[in-house]
Amino acid sequence: MTFNMGLFKRLICLMVLMALIVPLTHGAEQSEIKTNYRATEKYYQSMMSPSSLPIAQLQQFIHYLPKGGDIHHHYVGALYAETYLDWVEKKGYCIHRTNFQIETQVVKGSEDATQECISASLVRADTLFYTRLLQHWSDKDFDNAQPADLQFFSTFAYFFPIAYAFNQEGLQILKSRAQDENLQYIETTFQIAPSRGSKASNYKNHLLGSQEDLRINEALESSFQELQQDQDFQQAIRDYVESIDILFSQINDSAFTIKAQAYALRNEEPNAFFERLYAAFVASQKSSNIVGVNIVGPENEFVSMRDYALQMKMARFLKQKFPKARLSFHAGELALGMVPPEDLRNHITQAVRIAGVERIGHGLDIVYERNFNELMQEMKQKKIAVEINLTSNEFIAKIAGQSHPIILYAKNGVPIVISSDDEGVSRGSISQEYLLYLSRYKPSYSTLKKTIYNSISYSFLSEQEKATQIQLLDDKFARFEKQIALLQ
Ligand SMILES: [Zn+2]
Repeated sequence: MTFNMGLFKRLICLMVLMALIVPLTHGAEQSEIKTNYRATEKYYQSMMSPSSLPIAQLQQFIHYLPKGGDIHHHYVGALYAETYLDWVEKKGYCIHRTNFQIETQVVKGSEDATQECISASLVRADTLFYTRLLQHWSDKDFDNAQPADLQFFSTFAYFFPIAYAFNQEGLQILKSRAQDENLQYIETTFQIAPSRGSKASNYKNHLLGSQEDLRINEALESSFQELQQDQDFQQAIRDYVESIDILFSQINDSAFTIKAQAYALRNEEPNAFFERLYAAFVASQKSSNIVGVNIVGPENEFVSMRDYALQMKMARFLKQKFPKARLSFHAGELALGMVPPEDLRNHITQAVRIAGVERIGHGLDIVYERNFNELMQEMKQKKIAVEINLTSNEFIAKIAGQSHPIILYAKNGVPIVISSDDEGVSRGSISQEYLLYLSRYKPSYSTLKKTIYNSISYSFLSEQEKATQIQLLDDKFARFEKQIALLQ
């Protein structure tokens, strides 16, 4: 092989030239990004400054705004009643005229409008009944004639018989909706963790709430060992994980990611609750598709209130067994009047200090917490993010506008994220949540962007996954701001 001096020189020249051009191009790109950012900031400020906001223009801006992730999200509550009615039709089920409930046995004659249980197509044909069905299966047209929290939580029982009938299709609907709204990540409570259905208590957990920690831990340890050795239950957890892995692997791609939180129901009796919480912890350690553990359900119900302290101790116990598990609990989804005032004093504190959560869902009653200032400082220091759900907070707890603690969280430097909770039940969307956030609290453009980035940085994705999502979000913002800059 002969050494070609001319070619070598040309190569060196090319490399020197490239070394000069690449930073120049990069520098030019950076400067264009900054210019577009400033133009977008200006455009945004011009919308936010008048006392009467141009809501329609803001809606358009928000629709295209990259929103990062929605990390307080419930799969079942995110689908609209109309989708569930489609699924009733697909399955050939019928709906009772008197109580709006789904009959999962195929009933003969449901195509006859005079029958008690009628098909989905007959439901749609009867405008009045169809409207009333939507009012039962969601918060539509609610006029406060009955308790709002009851309305909200009771909707789930109506569509539950059909809720998991077409998971692939349901996830696809959520993915399409997310992409339409420029949302790239969803962290959802997809399916409840399994339990053994224990009704009888082999230990009186609810009495242990007031007993010393040592005795509680002894009782939990014995339950834990029993669950560890129950082969059928372990298999049920493996099946649960496998079904989520299969479904999610068919949905996720480079532009959209959905991950699950496994969860327990807070108004179940202690044994069943502990079984589910245990299963949720185990499941979250078995798959990269299950990234966290949550506790859901009405917080003001009798069992949820009675067992709250015990449930937090159960979580602490399991966190010691599974230190890598990541927790985001619904906590403080309460308002004065829903429960006696003394019950508003410590739910967030216990979730933070006893259960050791990384995120709080709602955190509405923070102003009533005993050590309000210390708690705020602790949350700021530990970077415990609060998931803010403006529509559902207003509907369930009647907390909105200047009464919402979002203002205090922001003022005290506690990270916040904007999320949708149950957009199907609320008949809203993540864009609607941002519209409320912007129109009510008028954050600066840089605060808005920070809040959006929080939805990725405080998610339970791995560090590597976060880096990928942040890069995607950076690219989306670069494109979005370029488009807005062109408008001026
Ligand atoms: Zn929720």
